[in-house]
Amino acid sequence: MYDIPFLDLPPLNGASGTVRLPGSKSISNRVLLLAGLATGTTAVHDLLDSDDTHVMLDALAALGCRLHHEDSAHGRVLHVTGLGGQLVVHEADLFLGNAGTAMRPLAAALAVLAATQGGNFKLHGVPRMHERPIGDLVDALRPLGCHVDDLGQPGYPPLRLRGEAGGRLASARPIRVRGDVSSQFLTALLLALPLVSAERDIVIEVDGELISKPYIDITLNLLARFGIAVQRDGWQRFTIPQGSAYRSPGAMHVEGDASSASYFIALGAVAAHGGAPLRIEGVGNDSIQGDIRFVDAAVAMGAQVKRGPGWLEAHRGRWPLAGITMDCNHIPDAAMTLAVMALYADGPTRLTGIASWRVKETDRIAAMAAELRKVGATVVEGADFIEVTPPGPDAWRPAAIHTYEDHRMAMCLSLAAFNPLAGATLPCPVRILDPRCVGKTFPDYFEALFGVATADAQHVPVITIDGPTASGKGTLAAAVADALGYHLLDSGALYRATGLASQWDGVSPDDETGLARLAGLLDLRFGHGPNGSRAWLRGREVSDELRAEAAGLLASRVSALPAVRSALQSLQLAFRRAPGLVADGRDMGTVIFPQATLKVYLTASAATRAERRHKQLISKGISASIADLRVDLEARDARDKNRSVAPLKPAEDALLLDNSTSSIEGSVQQVLSWWQQRRPF
Ligand code: C5P
Repeated sequence: MYDIPFLDLPPLNGASGTVRLPGSKSISNRVLLLAGLATGTTAVHDLLDSDDTHVMLDALAALGCRLHHEDSAHGRVLHVTGLGGQLVVHEADLFLGNAGTAMRPLAAALAVLAATQGGNFKLHGVPRMHERPIGDLVDALRPLGCHVDDLGQPGYPPLRLRGEAGGRLASARPIRVRGDVSSQFLTALLLALPLVSAERDIVIEVDGELISKPYIDITLNLLARFGIAVQRDGWQRFTIPQGSAYRSPGAMHVEGDASSASYFIALGAVAAHGGAPLRIEGVGNDSIQGDIRFVDAAVAMGAQVKRGPGWLEAHRGRWPLAGITMDCNHIPDAAMTLAVMALYADGPTRLTGIASWRVKETDRIAAMAAELRKVGATVVEGADFIEVTPPGPDAWRPAAIHTYEDHRMAMCLSLAAFNPLAGATLPCPVRILDPRCVGKTFPDYFEALFGVATADAQHVPVITIDGPTASGKGTLAAAVADALGYHLLDSGALYRATGLASQWDGVSPDDETGLARLAGLLDLRFGHGPNGSRAWLRGREVSDELRAEAAGLLASRVSALPAVRSALQSLQLAFRRAPGLVADGRDMGTVIFPQATLKVYLTASAATRAERRHKQLISKGISASIADLRVDLEARDARDKNRSVAPLKPAEDALLLDNSTSSIEGSVQQVLSWWQQRRPF
């Protein structure tokens, strides 16, 4: 997951493959609350692991629910042992981040529990949570006899919920709640009021037109699985039968998030144009989530979508997409994705019935309008609608997208990077600011996107860092790659691995043809382990062996052979993948990536390098003399510089960086600042 201030997406031009969706946020948090209130233990499978579920889990733990994680062959399972409707903890301070799906239902449940069993609970969140309305829910709870104190601005969190044991609720009359600001208020009451239905039916009546009805369907569906059969009369009146009590169903499977699926359905419609569809696993035609109806909206714009139980396959149909006018009241979250698909349409797209966007993670109408304008679209916004006219081919612009701590802004706007498919005259990269915000619902969103998206290699940025042995280029390259979220190519490791393989197979270091054959078939994989980056050769871990001095010396011999160098060329080029590459070695800027966007030539005096290498070896418990190391270094430098092919030298357009006296942080900052100067943002 990208924990960096920005992530630059290069212009992208296609997509195919399979994406596995994370669990649904709406289902996950409802299931967690129901399991937490129920009698018995519920094994929750495929739970979403994200910011919003973490705050719910923390709250349940603070309230005394037992939570136990288990890793099984079928993935992670969470066992939740519920409270059986009885408070065991009567006082708690619960931080709920920016999770509306935790704040609203917990407020309702703890209000009625405190009012009847005694308690004192404070609920609060991030600053934005304190700007998201909850007054309609509070207004429904107070006439029931719940004590709800506004701790900040009235009608907004933070709240305190209080009560004495033995309190009784005025539940004989219907409980009235407004349904036209957020359906989460009704959901909260439906989830909470079975707690106090022992003596009589509880009736909830909705004032005003209920919005986002499909979310109420999810609530009713999950309540039914926990033994609560709510009777629904239209969308105005809901009755919780007397004697309702939550019973754990034993096990619950959380289906993939249909709102998260929308980005990949859109991606299929825009970018799966090479014959193969984009397959989306985890949600399908059996979904209980309202946002699955996004599929119909995408089809109306021209997508081709096949669906089955637990899967969808999307690919391009009509192209360009058709501009549409649509009331999106039924798919408020996924509708944001339509606003971005509109960039690829043949005319304006007008989305109406989206007033609720204004009270979500951010004011999504204003945010969407501002960011779509940045990429070149013409946008008109109103109180409850947005109209997007796509940019003409010349109007696309590279844009740094502000994401407003809103996961959906980040995921939606990433789709603007496919502008080459819209015929953008100047293919434009897209910078996503604060990409970590996707952690609210889809922590690995960008990894999933890069797993299926393709780019024209010439549009994938490359930073090369060349220099002599022990100049610190490996450390610098890794730090720069980390800071930018880019891939890393440690080209020296390929020569080292070739040397190692030659030893394993008994191929002489002078047998150029034999060595080139080994290099061409090199089965070398890189990954991350607890102690940093790891490498496996032919399935065997060789991380330490590769770094040994002997491997370096052998590498410097085999790397002088032209046939070995050309055998490793295509392997190195294959590292140039979205979102970008940082490559370190000797000839990255001169031979392998001569078109690199930024070339750095890193040096340090031989004395400094020998000292650094000495320190490194000593820290590994290997004894060495600085003088010997310096002789070795200089011999390797001489061989690298004087060989006939790809001799070590700075590319003509390389920027020189002597880090003899500067710290690694200083060098990283220097390279990042050079990089920033080359970016169009
Ligand atoms: O960078 P590292 O020390 O791992 O490289 C080991 C040897 O591989 C170097 O001494 C150099 O001879 C060779 N090499 C090369 N071209 C590269 C990277 C490494 O010739 N791009």
